[in-house]
Amino acid sequence: MSDCIFCKIINKDIPSEIVYEDEDVLAFLDIKPISQGHTLVVPKEHYENIFDVPKNVLNNTMNIVKKISKSIKHISDGVNIGQNNLLAAGQIVNHIHFHIIPRFDNDGLKSWPRKSYNEGQMRDVSEKIKKKHRITP
Ligand code: 5GP
Ligand code: ZN
Repeated sequence: MSDCIFCKIINKDIPSEIVYEDEDVLAFLDIKPISQGHTLVVPKEHYENIFDVPKNVLNNTMNIVKKISKSIKHISDGVNIGQNNLLAAGQIVNHIHFHIIPRFDNDGLKSWPRKSYNEGQMRDVSEKIKKKHRITP
């Protein structure tokens, strides 16, 4: 896609620090890292997010997320994997990508804040989710 920054990186139209590349997937360092080694893993085909990416493309990408995570584990104490979908979730670049974030003991980074459910809310939201894909627990 011509106006996509990650497609430009994939096509080598703009430079990036590449840590892995194969026919289907590219991994490169995030230009504004949460921690040193923060890596983005992208399929080379342009899809926007988790909702439109085909399963085979996602599988190829996730295999590389696992591979690079193992490498990053060797230079860190832990690893966060993140993937944002749509603006409300913080997605800025509309080419699906996985963040691999190296974590270090006592690095001072906070986890997401947690909430509590009121009486009945847990069941309500569970029912709404299940109704959409008809599973039974
Ligand atoms: P999002 O918020 O969409 O999940 O994350 C997009 C990420 O892409 C951000 O962490 C941002 O720092 C990174 N990013 C944006 N533009 C560039 C770029 O031109 N090069 C690199 N290497 N990373 C970028
Ligand atoms: Zn793209």
